[in-house]
Amino acid sequence: MHPLAKLDHKFVWHPFTQMRDWLRREPLVIVEGKGAVLRDVKGREFLDANSSIWTNLHGHQNSKINSAIRRQLKKISHSSALGFANEPASLLAERLVTAANPKLKIKNSKLEKVFFSDDGSTALEVALKLAYQYSWRIRSASCPAALMKKFPPRFLSLDGAYHGDTVGAVSLGHIDLFHQAYGGMLFKTDKVMSPYCYRCPFNRAKPERDDARNYRKCNWECVGKVEQKFSAQKEKGNPYAAFVFEPLMQGAAGMIPQPDGWLNRVAEIARGHGALLIADEVMTGFGRTGTAKTGSGRWKAEILFACQHENVQPDFLCVAKGLTGGYLPMAATLTTQKVFAAFLGEYAEFKTFFHGHSFTGNQLGAAAALVSLEILQTEKSVRQRAQLQKNLRDELQSLWPLPNVGDIRQAGLVAGIELVKNWRTREPFDLRERAGIRVCEAMARRGVLTRPVGNVIVLMPPYCTTPAQLRKMVSAVREAVAEIFCGG
Ligand code: PMP
Repeated sequence: MHPLAKLDHKFVWHPFTQMRDWLRREPLVIVEGKGAVLRDVKGREFLDANSSIWTNLHGHQNSKINSAIRRQLKKISHSSALGFANEPASLLAERLVTAANPKLKIKNSKLEKVFFSDDGSTALEVALKLAYQYSWRIRSASCPAALMKKFPPRFLSLDGAYHGDTVGAVSLGHIDLFHQAYGGMLFKTDKVMSPYCYRCPFNRAKPERDDARNYRKCNWECVGKVEQKFSAQKEKGNPYAAFVFEPLMQGAAGMIPQPDGWLNRVAEIARGHGALLIADEVMTGFGRTGTAKTGSGRWKAEILFACQHENVQPDFLCVAKGLTGGYLPMAATLTTQKVFAAFLGEYAEFKTFFHGHSFTGNQLGAAAALVSLEILQTEKSVRQRAQLQKNLRDELQSLWPLPNVGDIRQAGLVAGIELVKNWRTREPFDLRERAGIRVCEAMARRGVLTRPVGNVIVLMPPYCTTPAQLRKMVSAVREAVAEIFCGG
């Protein structure tokens, strides 16, 4: 075993990993990356087919991001945002606000203020705490204190939701496997059905599908469930303070896309009931869910967030992972002037938002993020993403004939391939069979690295992935599924 692998085995505890399994085999020790390629300590090359757990945008060692970080290193790596402003964080905040408010036909307030933090979980934690206090302040102006105590602000999120691992973010989540162990330390939130067209309990066709042969027509029953939930809560005298959602595609739930129009509809319902909208774009942000064309056929460079595809403007926009192009841990929670104003007051009123992290607004991260955003908005990058999105769609078609491929789902540059025991009956694999893990291990033997979510194989290529590299990623899925389930 390589000495570095030995050290890892001896000292490192890996996230979301059964360490007994981990210790059974020699780990890959990654030492280099270039574009979509990762290289290990033994000189072997692998394709980074999930963009290093959904973070990397433009590839590893992007020369522009490398230079920006080097330039910043020569000035300063970090100074505190508790007490001081800094150059790249101020510039980045302006740029994020511009990107979050494109000139689209979007109603509702602008996102004007940026609160920086470190990770997806902290971005959600910030939104949650801001929304809680904001709602409390607004309601307590007209509501007796006793009633406020009885009915504190309540949150609604989606079935299968995952919003991070800190306690607040876990409270918003609804994946029993991850979250049940912490039941006693979480606060109560409610969940509502999210669309999962492949396993639609109403046996409906996808609303946008025109070959509804084996299905009944979609009447948006899942949207009806959201309406019912909001109405029922209002009748209890404590309308939801906020609705939390991943727009267009739920990632850790199993790469489950929402049909066109779902988000817009449920956002209207939530707004109609006075709830704040908290959009978790930790996975979907920065072009992941694809590009869109204008009426005249030009690519819209300004669409960087999933909400924008559905003309939805949230009150909180949470971003992380791809913010720095996937180079450094940095996150941001954007919100409106209205929310910001609720925290203004004289010092002694203590309306301050008492929250912050040591590395809030870190200069190296902000310098990387500034350049990453600049690259994203170039015509070249937009065209590259559009082409990659199309190539991914085309390549994925070759997986349909596999009997253990039940569903193939794509939202822009994210794809989920759901493995099933039988494509006719859609019978799922028991998680204990480790179907997704075994397929990913077989893919790694073919030089392609990704990580499943349950029985769903994830492909999320860096934007610089070449057509040949993309073909290799999809071929690896095809060959691995055949090897594991059909004996080769
Ligand atoms: N929200 C979503 C939608 C995510 O996918 C993730 C991470 N996979 C998080 C939040 C948490 O982000 P982090 O791991 O950076 O804390």
